[in-house]
Amino acid sequence: MKKFPFTSILGWSSSRFDTFSSCKRKYYYRYYAKHDTDFALDQINRLKQLTTVPLTVGSIAHDVIETLLKRLQKSDSDIDTSRLKEHIIKMVEDTIQKSEFFELYYQKQEELDKESMVEAIYKCLQLFIESDRYAWINQQPMEQRHKWVIEPPGFGETRINDLKAYCKVDCMIPTEEGVFIFDWKTGKNDVAKHRKQLIGYSLYAHNNFGHPEKDIRAFVVYLKGIFDEAELELQEGEVKQFYETFVDDTTEMQSYCADVDKNTPKGKDEFEMIDSGLCAYCEFKELCGK
Ligand code: SF4
Repeated sequence: MKKFPFTSILGWSSSRFDTFSSCKRKYYYRYYAKHDTDFALDQINRLKQLTTVPLTVGSIAHDVIETLLKRLQKSDSDIDTSRLKEHIIKMVEDTIQKSEFFELYYQKQEELDKESMVEAIYKCLQLFIESDRYAWINQQPMEQRHKWVIEPPGFGETRINDLKAYCKVDCMIPTEEGVFIFDWKTGKNDVAKHRKQLIGYSLYAHNNFGHPEKDIRAFVVYLKGIFDEAELELQEGEVKQFYETFVDDTTEMQSYCADVDKNTPKGKDEFEMIDSGLCAYCEFKELCGK
């Protein structure tokens, strides 16, 4: 796997650009908190680390899928569903103990509904395990499974047109029919939004692992409500368009840097607040007086 020497310059990621697009002030607190002089860094970091019930469901579902796939690399024996549930309960209890939740901090809920979190995660896992995709994964030859890349370490740093980007894939399975990339989603189905991520993952597989572009097949897999998956089928000119959008996104974010190479921000006032319903769900709302 290709690695890149450290540079301070900002790197594009789908989530970074989403935050940038939604609210510049939120973007400032998420990525440049240490430059703030109005609030203590500890306070900003505490808010930044707030989690939510849906985020926790997604995060634990990802972790459990990672564990299942790593297990499949060694054994294709059936999954013990009661042990799986116990494992999920333990992970939910640990997360509730270690993390601070938005719902308790801001919405003043007395306590979290642990049972419904466990059920939501278990349902995601059930959809996954009962899917044709899981059966397909489980049919892959045992002697080839060591080549699977499951939650690769790091942040998926790559280069696209010489610019830094982060495109971390959930799972990459090389087969004789090409390399299959999967991105698990526990939120709502939004293929149009996720196409951009899939193109980024494909470029990551090409740039970092040397897979020929023609051999790469990228899928987004939805695990909420019903199992669904969509394969990225590139339209003519779409990669070129992605490159152009990617450069535009990066240039736009860099325009908020005082020093682009060092990735230091302009003054906080340049990062405007918004006035929208989104503020109600924002972890930084106490800093903005919302
Ligand atoms: S509360 Fe609103 S204005 Fe403040 S950072 Fe969040 S989204 Fe932006």
